[in-house]
Amino acid sequence: MTEDSHGNKGFWYNPPMAVTRVLQKALIPDNFTRSLFRISPYRGCSHGCRYCDGRAERYYVPGDFEKDVEVRENMPSRLEEELLNFREWGMVTLGSGVTDVYQPKEAEAGLTRKILTLLAKSELPVQILTKSDLVQRDLDILGPLAKKVGAVLLISLTTLDQDLLNVMEPGASRASERIETLRLAKAAGLTTGVLAMPLLPGLSDDKKSVENLANALKSVEVDFVCPGGLTLRPGCQKEIYLDTLAAHHPELLTFYKEIYGENRPSGMPQRHPSYQGDYLIQILRDMGIPPVMPQRIYKNLLPRGDGLSLVFQDLRDHYKYRGIDVRSLQSIISRYNSWWIDLRKHFRRHRALEDTWLDQRFTEALTFGELERLLDNKKLWKFTQEILDGGEWNSLGPGTPRQGFPKTV
Ligand code: SF4
Repeated sequence: MTEDSHGNKGFWYNPPMAVTRVLQKALIPDNFTRSLFRISPYRGCSHGCRYCDGRAERYYVPGDFEKDVEVRENMPSRLEEELLNFREWGMVTLGSGVTDVYQPKEAEAGLTRKILTLLAKSELPVQILTKSDLVQRDLDILGPLAKKVGAVLLISLTTLDQDLLNVMEPGASRASERIETLRLAKAAGLTTGVLAMPLLPGLSDDKKSVENLANALKSVEVDFVCPGGLTLRPGCQKEIYLDTLAAHHPELLTFYKEIYGENRPSGMPQRHPSYQGDYLIQILRDMGIPPVMPQRIYKNLLPRGDGLSLVFQDLRDHYKYRGIDVRSLQSIISRYNSWWIDLRKHFRRHRALEDTWLDQRFTEALTFGELERLLDNKKLWKFTQEILDGGEWNSLGPGTPRQGFPKTV
């Protein structure tokens, strides 16, 4: 491992290699980004958040995470070629846990803007993950795209305490700039969401702080807010964060050593009383703001077969939250997902199939009883029909009482 001038630890730096595949394709959307495709034109991030999970060794980001940002210059031209033969449809997420697509490099390199231009030409819905107000520059592309097929702006913000942000997120836009960006994006027609994560124990996870945050987000009418806590994976991520804490909040070190002392590989802490993520969910609900991207949004951004998989996963999370046994639902989800994944693999392997084959196959399964037999559960089948007939559910996320969904399956 190397160490940079700030004492940050990282792997040996190698010059960037030309990218051979731009659109990273999933077989089924994940529960977090809720998208099928992902693009990251940079690797590493000069926003330099002290808690950034992307610094963890498991992601193999080479060199100094903040300074040796890899700029994947050939991505737009490669993407243009890939899109010529692209036969699929669904939301593309720009961003990842190891980069921010609107970090300062983007102001010079413009890769994100070029990529957005190409995706808009292909009429693919997009989702942006960022902590930067530079995204305002591209609202001229995102606004019309939002109206045509959908565009989501997900801004990460956990607190309005600018002194704390100056320490923990030194290169990101100010809290007020991020909130203004959400307001402008909403006015331009985008769906807006906030990643209120990671709430930092003892620093930004108290009741007053999360109330202030929720009020500010309500004032700009965000569509959803996803709260989450801090994970500290053993290794350089944890060391850098604890060094920052020692320099700015030494009084909290003992507390952190207690709750993160087990060094779990996932970085998860022990449960501790100061965490107010559940309280944030509660006040968001009282304000009518869902704590996950709701089905009414993602149902328009994904093929129906993928949307249904997410609905089942949301239903499972809802049951878990209420302490209901989910084993039977989980086995139905596994069965459904492997059926849908097999169809997608078949579609991707056989290039002679029509572009609409996957959707037609889903309609056939729905019409001729294959889907009903696959689910093999009367209550879930009734619920599925209601959803596919245009119904919406769970608009306020897991745990919200709602008339009409099955109490158990
Ligand atoms: S903006 Fe995201 S990727 Fe960049 S340093 Fe912060 S947490 Fe990491």
